[in-house]
Amino acid sequence: MSESSDCIFCKIARGEIPSVKVYEDEHTLTFMDVRPASPGHALVISKAHAANLLEMTEVDLQAVTLTVQRVARAVQKALAPDGIRISQFNGAAAGQTVFHYHVHVIPVQEGQHTGSHGRSSADPQQLALLAAQIRAALGS
Ligand code: AMP
Ligand code: ZN
Repeated sequence: MSESSDCIFCKIARGEIPSVKVYEDEHTLTFMDVRPASPGHALVISKAHAANLLEMTEVDLQAVTLTVQRVARAVQKALAPDGIRISQFNGAAAGQTVFHYHVHVIPVQEGQHTGSHGRSSADPQQLALLAAQIRAALGS
């Protein structure tokens, strides 16, 4: 299945619901997580719908993986975290809540407890500022 009408990330990929975009290419889209685990938490998705890693085509998986590296490098450059967590969940039992393949890129600071999911919604202005910083680092 290349897209799903009631999938929230398909709707974001189609521009039907808003997101704070960071990066886009033919196969992938990167936007800020609205409930970030830490400031700068971004999500990389494949534009084509696949529920999880097991359903991904090789082309989309390669594209997402390359985008994850690109975005992680930009996050490092822009925000200088002590580390970057890359996480991805397959199935509700594993912690997945949105069933469209996506990879979390999460800046981590030494000494701060940072999981893979945040508890509260981010300030939209703060999200826009962080996205602009990461975007600028992508271009440089
Ligand atoms: P998971 O499926 O557990 O890997 O996590 C899904 C992630 O998507 C969570 O971190 C949510 O905060 C995030 N999320 C859900 N809806 C949106 C949205 N409309 N825009 C941005 N992030 C979202
Ligand atoms: Zn989808």
